[in-house]
Amino acid sequence: MSYPANRTPEHLLDSDRAAGFEVREDFKRFSQMNDIFTRAFWDERVKTKDTDAFFASYRMEAAPRRGDGFTQKDFALRNAAWLISDIVSERSAAEGLREGFQGAIRDDTPIAPDKAELGNPEDEAAEIKAVARLFGADLVGITHIDERWHYADRPDVRVMEPVANELPEGLSHVIVMGHAMDADLVETYPSALAGAATGREYSHEAAIVMQVAAYIRNLGYQAVASMNDTALVIPYAVKAGLGEYGRNQMVLTPDFGPRVRFSKIFTDLPLAVDAPVDLGLKAYCERCDVCARACPVKALPFGLPDFGEEVTGTSPSTQRGVKKWSSDAEACFSYWAKLKSDCAICMRVCPFTTPRKGALDRLWVWLARGGWGETGRGWARTLAARRLKPRTKPRDWWAARGR
Ligand code: SF4
Ligand code: SF4
Repeated sequence: MSYPANRTPEHLLDSDRAAGFEVREDFKRFSQMNDIFTRAFWDERVKTKDTDAFFASYRMEAAPRRGDGFTQKDFALRNAAWLISDIVSERSAAEGLREGFQGAIRDDTPIAPDKAELGNPEDEAAEIKAVARLFGADLVGITHIDERWHYADRPDVRVMEPVANELPEGLSHVIVMGHAMDADLVETYPSALAGAATGREYSHEAAIVMQVAAYIRNLGYQAVASMNDTALVIPYAVKAGLGEYGRNQMVLTPDFGPRVRFSKIFTDLPLAVDAPVDLGLKAYCERCDVCARACPVKALPFGLPDFGEEVTGTSPSTQRGVKKWSSDAEACFSYWAKLKSDCAICMRVCPFTTPRKGALDRLWVWLARGGWGETGRGWARTLAARRLKPRTKPRDWWAARGR
């Protein structure tokens, strides 16, 4: 890693403390070769006929079947939703780079030779957030660059061998953007239909992150557009004050719960940073296990955050050395492979996923986030457990659209 534990810059250690991160001496940067999706291409312990068919189903071999939510129409919608993201991720595949997933998105515009006149970092941060929202981002936060979260390497996708995961010199900040998934589609997880909620946001974020990055380059500053590639986005989203890490392995946000995907831009634009925030969501998680109980393959932990001991065994797909909830990635992905689509039951059942707009809903959120301390949180958990919403049947989702 670039920063041995005893040399991590003080401003990052301060922000670790504010975010509640505990990073141990044995922390090492994560190799993207060990990401479960990457392992499915090279590691015989993960790669199966099912995982091959899972990936093929996103192309023409869509594997429609008679089950509700897995018909040709469902796969057609899901795969169409992914289209823009696919175009971006495929365009450099012949050079070993899967842009947005296993390699940063290449610059589509040059950096202007002259730098624009800028205001102070606070004004510039407010302005870049407004620009990101203009292009369609639902959430925007800014934090310092922190190489601990950057992959130690990335795969060359032609041969699935590790190569250097490099960024240009001089980058200082990360702009993290959140992209809210469609609430009604999320209610139909698990199904190929629901996968359209995932694909739609990847396509949205590809466009948004490339447009915001182009804007910054036109100001004369560096901007590297990034989706799931290059660095773990979860610690960056937490550090940028967008949410807290939940038991279901997702960032819980105040506006959308875990129903969000994230993209990021690495830049040298001088910007004021946001601070991590205590939203009371992680504290709710600590005594909630709705997602862990709902997981069909028991891939989620039930206890408090640990260093990966509870359910991950010796899996190389777990980032070790950081105290957090960790999942059994192999069990989770094997279920996705059987379904031929993403599962995300743990997103659907989370009580923070459902949009809460009415007065009683707002009261529930206030209690759940600790407005009345642990007693109120306990009531909120009891209420949420009693009012678990059943999954929307995919055929009902379609029927509602056909009216
Ligand atoms: S995505 Fe599905 S299989 Fe994976 S952890 Fe969540 S509920 Fe379990
Ligand atoms: S379902 Fe409960 S435990 Fe799981 S992420 Fe949501 S709040 Fe946390």
